[in-house]
Formats: sequence, C-alpha cells, structure tokens
Amino acid sequence: MNKFDYDLLVIGAGSGGVRAARMASDFGARVAIAEDRYLGGTCVNVGCVPKKLLFYASHFSEDFENAKGFGWTLDPPRFNWQSLIKDKNKEIERLNSVYRKLLDNAGVELINGHGTLVDANTVAVNGKHYAAERILIATGGWPSIPDIPGKEHVISSNEVFFLETLPEKIIIVGGGYIAVEFAGILNGLGVETTLLYRGPLFLRGFDQDVRKFLAEEMRKKGIKLKFGTNIECIDKIDRQLRATLTDGSTLLTDLIMYATGRKPKTEELGIELLGITLDKNTAIVVNDQYQTNIPSIYAVGDVTNRVNLTPVALAEGMFLARFLFNNEDSPVEYENIPTCVFSQPNIGTVGLTEAAAREKYKQIDVYKSSFTPMKHTLSGDDEKTLMKLIVDKETDRVVGVHMVGPEAGEIIQGIGIAMKAGARKADFDKTIGIHPTTAEEFVTMREPAN
Ligand code: FAD
Ligand code: NDP
Repeated sequence: MNKFDYDLLVIGAGSGGVRAARMASDFGARVAIAEDRYLGGTCVNVGCVPKKLLFYASHFSEDFENAKGFGWTLDPPRFNWQSLIKDKNKEIERLNSVYRKLLDNAGVELINGHGTLVDANTVAVNGKHYAAERILIATGGWPSIPDIPGKEHVISSNEVFFLETLPEKIIIVGGGYIAVEFAGILNGLGVETTLLYRGPLFLRGFDQDVRKFLAEEMRKKGIKLKFGTNIECIDKIDRQLRATLTDGSTLLTDLIMYATGRKPKTEELGIELLGITLDKNTAIVVNDQYQTNIPSIYAVGDVTNRVNLTPVALAEGMFLARFLFNNEDSPVEYENIPTCVFSQPNIGTVGLTEAAAREKYKQIDVYKSSFTPMKHTLSGDDEKTLMKLIVDKETDRVVGVHMVGPEAGEIIQGIGIAMKAGARKADFDKTIGIHPTTAEEFVTMREPAN
C-alpha cells in the first residue's frame, strides 16, 4: 500500500496548477488540488478573461464613431458600467463552474482552502494534513505596490474589475502591460485618463519603434501620458485624491490605480520552514524540470517569475505532468513566445526587438511600414498601423516581427508558427497575400528601411 494519499498535490488552481493536475490525473496519477480563492486563478478571475471583456466594451465607443463614416446614424450611445460588470461577473462564475467540472471529470480532488507546506511530502489545508509523493506549487502572483505615503488610497488591477462606479478621472501608475491596457480601456469608457511612468518611455523591453508608435496613438485618443515622473505621496482631499509628483507638481483625481508589477505569491506557504530557495524577487527557483531544491517539490507559472503569461503557465504545467507521469521529456521552449498587449491599438510581437537583433547578429535588414488601414479611409479615424519585420541578413531568417494595430494578437499568433518553423524572409515573400487585409503587408514588404 502506497504511504501517500496522493501522487501529486497541487497548491493553486490557476492556469498552471489546473492544467498539471488534470493531465497528471489523465495519466493515472492520484491528484488533489488546493485552492483558497477562485477556480481558474488570476487569468479567469482578475486577468486575461475579464480584461479582454472590458477591452471589447471599451472599443465600442470608437466603433460607434467610425460607423458614421459608413452611412450609419446613431442616437448618442449610452454606456452602463454596472450592467457590464454584472454580465462580466456572470460569465466568470460560469467559467468557475466549468473549471470545477473539468477537475471533477478528470478525477482530481478539489480541496477548498489555503495550502501550506508542512514538510517535503505534506500539505496542510484547514488544519488537515495531506500526504503526497510530489507537491506542485502553482500559487501565481499578486499586485505589488510601492510603499509610498497614501498607499492605502490606491487600487490595483484586482479591484478595478469590481468598481461600483467609474471615476470621472483616473491616474494609472506604471508602464507595463496592465497600465497600458487599462489606460486604453478606461479612456474608451469615457474616463479622463492619465498614465504616469517613471522612465522616459513606457513598455521597456518592447521594440523602440513600437513603443514610440503606441505612445503617439494613445495620445491621439486623448490619453495623457506623463513620462519621467512618479508619485511621491497621495493625500485624500474631500472625495478626491491629490498626487504629489517627484517634480513637485500635484494632480487632483478621483482614483489612482497602481500597475507596478506583480510579486510571486510565496508568502504564507511555509517556504522558509522547508528552506526552499527563492531569488531576489522572492520567486521560487526551479531547474529545467521545474523542481525546487527540495526534490519532491515543484513549481510552475508566475510563482517562478519567468515569463508571466497564461499560455506559458499552461505549457509548464503540461510539461510537468508528462515528465512525471508519462515518461515524456520535451522541454518548454522559451524562445519566440508570441505576445499581445491589448492596448488600443493592440501590440502583437514575436521574436527579437531591433536593438536585440542588432546585438545578436552581424547584419540585419529591417522592413517597416506604417499606414492608415483601409477601414479608416471612410471612418475618418486617424489611427495608424505599424508593421515591422527584422531579418538576419546572413541566414535570411525572420528573427522579429512586430505590429501595432487592430487584431495584432490574432495576426502575430500565425506569424509565431512561421517563426517556430524557421521561416525565412524568402518564405514570407513567396506567400500569397490575402487581399484586402492588413496582414498581407507582412508578405509584401520588399525594401529594407535600414
Ligand atoms: P494564477 O493563475 O495566479 O493561479 C494561482 C492560484 O493559486 C490562484 O487561484 C490563487 O488563489 C491560488 N493560491 C495562491 N496561494 C494559495 C494557497 N496557499 N493555497 C491555495 N491556493 C492558493 N496573461 C496572458 O497570457 N494574457 C493576458 O491577456 C493576460 N492578462 C492579464 C491581465 C491582468 C490584469 C493580470 C493581473 C494578468 C494577466 N495575465 C495575462 C497573466 C496571467 O493571468 C498569469 O500569467 C497566469 O494567470 C499565471 O498562472 P499561474 O497558474 O501561475 O497563477
Ligand atoms: P510589468 O512588469 O509588465 O510592468 C510593471 C511596470 O511598473 C513597469 O513599467 C515598471 O517600470 C513599473 N514599476 C515597477 N515598480 C515601480 C515603482 N516602484 N514605481 C513606479 N513604477 C514602477 O507588470 P504589470 O503589473 O503591468 O503586469 C504584470 C505581468 O502580467 C506582465 O509583465 C505580464 O507578464 C502579465 N500580463 C500580461 C498581459 C498580456 O499578455 N496581455 C496583460 C497583463 C499582464 P520599469 O519598466 O521602469 O521597471
């Protein structure tokens, strides 16, 4: 008789944890999963899914305007935030129950409650001890807000999804995915939006042309971008908030949202008790098989702070289930991970930025095109699209593809497959375009811009 209750006990039923648990169970392992907050984790409850729903809602304001150029007359459209949030919550509840069914159908036992490590093979939930041959930590991350005076007055992305009313004015602090996405969402919903970022230009790490292009497009839509500044302190004045900036100036606003990164959720887990190694950002350190320094304990997803995206957490969870319970060893490839920032317009990107490609390769060709999409010839909207290809001259390999424009994520997903298959610029050139589309521009760029 096996001395353990389970072959695998997962802490955290988010993207990575659920995928690992379901697959391990499919391979015949006895699996349980502990969850203390919500099934589906960040992505389903306060991340990708509700964010994309709010993105759709927000974009209608522009769509209504654009419709006028195509012969439509509309009564002034009205928007109701409470109704949107109610329907969004209903959809998330539906997804929560889908997750419950997925776990049930896979034969995974759900343990409701906060999991803490007791020893290398034991997890405590609600005072009860569960013994497992292997433990997987998939506890994700949590918003990190700098310790400034007045911090208690601000919200994070966790709260923005549940606001009772929309503010008239908001300041969003940060220059990463969440700040840029929510600046677009709230501006589209009619909120006077200011984005404050401490550096000279937001989206550090993205291609320089993409960053500049998006900043210009966001400004055209009326979003105030204030770079090179930060909030020093916040005071509550009547019903408003006053932000004092590093340059001494002040801004009055109704709401301040911090989107200044996320911290791996490694507190209150018993990590110290077991001596699990963390890095300087308190992320769990794992080897190529997602194993911590305690051989029976593994970790995947945001808690390891590698590439904090849902499809990456899923891929890591799948790898682990296959590796531990099906004798497979096909590692997750971290190169050329396509990604989309759901800004308005979207950024889609895969591969190297121009700067990184210049460092890596002796000579590169850069193909660039910016233009007004056909739709806007009649809509009168002045939004422009940017497309950029980066090619290693020696091998003709396409090493970076970037786009700012509508549905950039949808387009770059397909390009990502081509890049995985090692596509060369000649393959792009030989591909027949789909006309008339924006995407065809990627197969018709002939003259390098460098
Ligand atoms: P999570 O999904 O965070 O799951 C961790 C789970 O563990 C949670 O359910 C938590 O309640 C539970 N838990 C934690 N501690 C314990 C404990 N001790 N006991 C029991 N349960 C515990 N990614 C994309 O790819 N595309 C997007 O568009 C996108 N948008 C995002 C928008 C926002 C606003 C945010 C915040 C994130 C977004 N992400 C997006 C990132 C994505 O949500 C994460 O990368 C992904 O959810 C990570 O999955 P995970 O399994 O590592 O952790
Ligand atoms: P990011 O790490 O992307 O960005 C954090 C931002 O906050 C950076 O601009 C950073 O500046 C700034 N910052 C950090 N500390 C401070 C500080 N003390 N004061 C002022 N500014 C500060 O984090 P997000 O919170 O935006 O998102 C978390 C992660 O979730 C993302 O990195 C991504 O992996 C994932 N995500 C993915 C999405 C998608 O796929 N579409 C959408 C949303 C989130 P600096 O650059 O100078 O360090």
